[in-house]
Amino acid sequence: MYSLWNEKEAAARKSHLELRVYSSRLLGREPSLVLHGGGNTSVKVSEVNLVGEEEEILYVKGSGWDLATIETQGFAPVRLTPMLKLAKLEALSDPQMVNELKCQMTQAGAPSPSVETILHAALPFRYVDHTHADAVVTITNTPDGRRLIEEVYGDKVVIVPYVMPGFDLARDVARIFAEQATPATQGMVLMNHGIFSFGDTAKDSYERMIRLVDMAEQFLLDQQAWDLVEPEPPVASAMAGDIVDLRKRLSEKAGRPMILSVTGSPRGMAFARRYDVQKVAMRGPATPDHVIRTKAVPMIGRDLDSYEKAYRDYFMAHEPSARERKTMLDPAPRVILDRDLGLCCAGKSMAEAAIVHDIYEHTMVCIERAEKLGGWRALPAADLFDMEYWDLEQAKLRKGGEPPLFQGEVALITGAASGIGKACVEAFLARGAAVIGVDINAAADGLYATPGYLGIACDISDTAALRAALEQGVRRFGGIDMLVLNAGMFPGGKRIAELGDEEWRKVLSVNLDANLALLRETYPMLKGAPNGGRVVVMGSKNVPAPGPGAAAYSASKAALTQLMRVVAMEWGGEGIRINALHPNAVFDTGIWTEEVLQARAQHYGLTVQQYKTNNLLGVEVTSRDVAELTAEMCGPLFAKTTAAQLPIDGGNDRVV
Ligand code: ZN
Repeated sequence: MYSLWNEKEAAARKSHLELRVYSSRLLGREPSLVLHGGGNTSVKVSEVNLVGEEEEILYVKGSGWDLATIETQGFAPVRLTPMLKLAKLEALSDPQMVNELKCQMTQAGAPSPSVETILHAALPFRYVDHTHADAVVTITNTPDGRRLIEEVYGDKVVIVPYVMPGFDLARDVARIFAEQATPATQGMVLMNHGIFSFGDTAKDSYERMIRLVDMAEQFLLDQQAWDLVEPEPPVASAMAGDIVDLRKRLSEKAGRPMILSVTGSPRGMAFARRYDVQKVAMRGPATPDHVIRTKAVPMIGRDLDSYEKAYRDYFMAHEPSARERKTMLDPAPRVILDRDLGLCCAGKSMAEAAIVHDIYEHTMVCIERAEKLGGWRALPAADLFDMEYWDLEQAKLRKGGEPPLFQGEVALITGAASGIGKACVEAFLARGAAVIGVDINAAADGLYATPGYLGIACDISDTAALRAALEQGVRRFGGIDMLVLNAGMFPGGKRIAELGDEEWRKVLSVNLDANLALLRETYPMLKGAPNGGRVVVMGSKNVPAPGPGAAAYSASKAALTQLMRVVAMEWGGEGIRINALHPNAVFDTGIWTEEVLQARAQHYGLTVQQYKTNNLLGVEVTSRDVAELTAEMCGPLFAKTTAAQLPIDGGNDRVV
C-alpha cells in the first residue's frame, strides 16, 4: 500500500478542515481501506463562537457521507469538551448518545455525527483516521489474532478487544488508550473491527495509516497468506427459471419485492463450491458495519425456510426485548452462495445489491487469506446479533420516508433507445424500478450509468437473441415484473393497392409477431413477479380510428390490441394484468423532424403549433406524458384494471 499524498494538492488546502477533506478522500480512493461509507475521520480545531468565546470543535464525518466523495459540509461540528465529559460516564444508551451528539453540534443543519464520535474525541490528537482495512481485519479475525497483531506491530499500536461500536467502545478506548499509549504509539487496532491512526498534521495521520496497513499486508505476504488463486470465470447456463423462483420466495420472506442479482463473480462461484463453505462462510462478516448491509451470515444453497429457521432461532436465543422484536429485520438473506448460481446478492434496490456485492467480494478475500493464516474467525454470534438490531444503524436504515413506488421491482421496456420508450425508461427509473432497456439500436446499451439500468441491444424478432436478452436481464436483477411493449415501426404511407407482401409482413413481424414472442417468453417471469406481473401495450389511435394509407400499421396495432385482450383472459388468474394505451400525435420523437412537421402542417393548412395541438383539449401530447401514464398503469391506481384501452391523445373527435 502506497501513500497518495501530493504536496502540491495539499498546499492548495488552506484550513485544517480542508486538509481533513483532502486526506479523507485519499483514504476513500482505496477500497481495501474503506468501502461504501465505512471508516471515518475527524479533526479538532478552535473556533470563536457568536458571543466571542473560543471553543474546541471536533469535526467528525457525518452519517450518509462517503470518505471517497466527502466535502467540508460532510463533517459534523461537535463541541469537544462535552464529548470528553461523556467519555468518562460509566454507561450511556445509544439513543441517549445520539441525542447528546446532536445537541452539541454548532450547526443545526449539519449531518448526524458518526457513532464513533466520542471515540474520536477521546484520542488526544488533532487528526484521527479510522478504516476497516482488509489486511488488518484479516489478521484480527483469526484464532490467534491478538498475538499476530502484537507480532506485526510491537509497541506501535494499542490493542482494544472487540466491543460493539457505540458508547461502550468509546469509553473502553478512552481508558485503554490512557493506560497503554506510549511515545512510540502510532495507531490503535480494534480487534474484529479495524484500525485508527492519528497525528498532529493531516499528512502524519494519513501516512501512518498507510504505513500500518502496509505492515499488515507485508505480514500476510511473508506468511504466504496474501496471494490467492484467481478462479476461472464461471460458465453460465440458462437458469432464468430458477432465479425467478428464488427471487419470488426471497421477496415473500422479505415482505416486499427484492432485487436479486446473480453476480457472475469468479471468486463467488469458487467460494460457493468450496467443500467447507458451510463452515467458513457461516463464521460471520469481516467488520461490524458489514453486518447491517449483508446480514450476519449468508445463505448457503437456496433453502429459504431453513435459513429463516436458523435466523429465528438465533434471534430468540438472544432473548430479545419487545422493542427489539419490533425492529427485527426480515428473515431474507442478502448474500446467497449457491453451487449453480455462485454468489447472488439481494437488496431493496440494485444500488443496495451492488453494495452487498462489493462488500462480499472483499469479505471472501479476507476469509481466504485468514484461512491460510490459521482460520477465519469473525465476531462472536451474540455480538453480531447486537449489531444487527443496533438502534443507531436501524435508525439510519429507516430514514428517508416513503419508499419509491416500484422499489425492488424490474421493468423491461422495448424500443428503449428513443422516443416514448426512452421516456418510459426514465419514468420507471424515477419510480425506483430497475429497468432492462431493449432496443435494436445499440444506443440502448449504456444509456444511463445508474446500477438500476441494464441496456441490451437486441432484435426482439430473433427469438434466440430475445431469450439470451431475457436470461441476461434476469441474472442482473432477478426477474421481470413489468413489461412495456413499445417497440414498433411506422412505415411511410401507402394505399392498399400498392402495398406489397413483403412490406406487410415486415410491419406485422415487428409490431405483432415479435410482441407475441416477447409475451410468451416473459410469461414465466411475469408469473413469478412478487406483486403480480403487469404489461402495458403501446397501441395507437389508429386502432379505434384508422386512417387511409396505414393499412399494415393499423392492422398490426389492432391485432396487438386483440392479443392483449386474450392475454388478459388467459393470465388474469395468475394475477397478471395487461392494458393498452392509444397515443396519438406524439411529435417529440425521432421521426418527427421540424421539416416533416412543417410539411404535414402545411398539408392541412395549419401552423405547426396548431397541427401539434389539433385535438379536443388543444394540448400537445409529449412522449413524457405517455411514459408517465404507462408507469402509473403498472402502479396501484390500476391494480384492479385489466384489458383496458386508454386513449392519450388530447381527445379525438373520431374516437369520442
Ligand atoms: Zn469502525
